Amino acid sequence: MTTTMRRAVLDELPAVDGRGVGVPAVDVLVVGAGITGSAVAYEAASRGLSVVVLDKGDVGAATSAATGKLIHGGLRYLKKLEVGLVYESLAERRIMANIAPPYVYPCPTVLPNTGLVERLGLTAYDVLATGWRKPWDPDKTLPRHRHIRGTEAARRSVPEVSEALLYYDAIMPDPERLTLAFLRSAVAHGAQVATYAQVNELLVEGTAVVGARVHDLLTGAEHTVRARVVVNAAGPWVHDLLSASATTAGVAGPAPQVRSEGIYLLTRQLTPQMTLFYGKHGHFSFAPWRGHSMIGPTETPYHGAVDDWRLTLRSITDFLDVINRIAHLPQPLTLADVQYAWGGLRPLTETAGNDTYGASRASETVDHARDGLEGLVTVAGGKYTTSRAFAQHTVDLLGRKLRTQVRASTSAFTYLDGCAIPRLEPHVQAMVAQHRHVDPRTVELLVRHYGTDAPALLALAASDPALAEPLDDDGEILAQVLWAVRHEMAPHLTDVFLRRTGLGTLGRPADDVLDRAARLAATELGWEDARVDEEVAAVVAATELPVDVRTPSAG
Ligand SMILES: Cc1cc2nc3c(=O)[nH]c(=O)nc-3n(C[C@H](O)[C@H](O)[C@H](O)COP(=O)(O)OP(=O)(O)OC[C@H]3O[C@@H](n4cnc5c(N)ncnc54)[C@H](O)[C@@H]3O)c2cc1C
Repeated sequence: MTTTMRRAVLDELPAVDGRGVGVPAVDVLVVGAGITGSAVAYEAASRGLSVVVLDKGDVGAATSAATGKLIHGGLRYLKKLEVGLVYESLAERRIMANIAPPYVYPCPTVLPNTGLVERLGLTAYDVLATGWRKPWDPDKTLPRHRHIRGTEAARRSVPEVSEALLYYDAIMPDPERLTLAFLRSAVAHGAQVATYAQVNELLVEGTAVVGARVHDLLTGAEHTVRARVVVNAAGPWVHDLLSASATTAGVAGPAPQVRSEGIYLLTRQLTPQMTLFYGKHGHFSFAPWRGHSMIGPTETPYHGAVDDWRLTLRSITDFLDVINRIAHLPQPLTLADVQYAWGGLRPLTETAGNDTYGASRASETVDHARDGLEGLVTVAGGKYTTSRAFAQHTVDLLGRKLRTQVRASTSAFTYLDGCAIPRLEPHVQAMVAQHRHVDPRTVELLVRHYGTDAPALLALAASDPALAEPLDDDGEILAQVLWAVRHEMAPHLTDVFLRRTGLGTLGRPADDVLDRAARLAATELGWEDARVDEEVAAVVAATELPVDVRTPSAG
């Protein structure tokens, strides 16, 4: 059955639970609906706690949409001997593939120009993964690494490579929908969610945080949400949230002096399989994705305010220079080759100086009771991959803080909502065969991006031929737009184009696609013409390359 996400009506959230004045009705208020907040919300709600989640933007629209889409063990962390982090990441790599089969796939990776260090590293990587090798779905098995040479190396990578190591990690082609799957799993367990709801300050009474003051960005209204404990899962903004008011600024600690910008570029497809390039101060890869190449990440110190961060043309052109210097492509890449680009700031937990590349990707939990402030926990997620385990530990802590016997965690062995497909590949084939009258690209795409909701989308598409016409080469259809606004809490066209569907994530969509989608959303959501123009302009602005040349590190 489909879980429909409806925006929480903040006015109706009771401040008392009927047993007594001043008793907060909600156990946990999660600030931030990135992967960290969404996973915490799911974990808490599924273990019996009442939960409200607020985000000032859309679900998973910030760092969690800026990733390299890898669910990975973090091979390079072995160099820093972060064996515990690698072991946990490898375990979570397997668990993510198990609980979210439509969203996580094996990703063969070519590592050219290797020596003894890389071989030893990959051997250790395989050994650490041994206990986690066997997946629920045998098609998700990740083989051990091996040496490749000659034509096999050339076939799998850029043409120059004659010898390399081949190893396997996992890729989530659609992190936006995976984050949504965590959040809708929370909703399926009773969590309430409001996006475009900005927490302006945390509410403090005595020596405890008891909730938050919230500005509703859709209606302009102000609200107070009371909770027994607040989880600050604001990603790169965790410090900003604490320092926003005098009552919590004392526990914020010093503001991070430097953050790490990471960006990705999208070009025509350059390599058939993911190929990794290592330099002294960083690494980047060419990863095939939707018939294109995704190149990144960068690792650039950023000294400005988090809210001021923007992807800049300067970051893109600087990265093109690095790629051309290191990757030795047959033809150097130019700006004209870049179809789309995205990025974000890593919420690093380690004070890194300018060596942000060397900073740990470990997650960090701060129970502010240590600073004399009860009712507040800050969680800074280091990796998308480990977010489920991080949430599990966080909710263990919440149970202790609330002095409540929370139920045992089941998230490591329960399918996420909408994901219960034990054998994905045969299921895709069966669905394609069953829906012969529909474009097979569309059927496959719907199963891989909507899981067990795919039949409902196909039924919706069958109700009106206009909804079933493919809009792009991947076979996306207008029915997805209707589905997003009806079932997936997407109040803006940017939510639909960038995060519910892939219509905007290959670069600027065609005018007729924008027009048809906007008209459909407008009818469903009651938009006037002026609003339609605004919504379309926002999608265009978000999908075109930036034109400014501001240097981010100049602050
Ligand atoms: C370039 C790059 C590549 C990466 N690649 C990978 C990868 O391949 N694999 C991997 O495992 N990890 C990767 N990571 C790391 C991973 O993306 C992050 O660890 C993870 O996304 C952090 O999620 P989060 O929920 O903590 O933060 P975010 O996703 O940033 O979520 C924080 C949320 O809080 C909200 N918020 C902030 N302030 C407020 C407020 N006052 N009121 C309400 N809401 C608020 C924001 O709107 C935002 O949605 C990468 C990171 C970057 C930058």
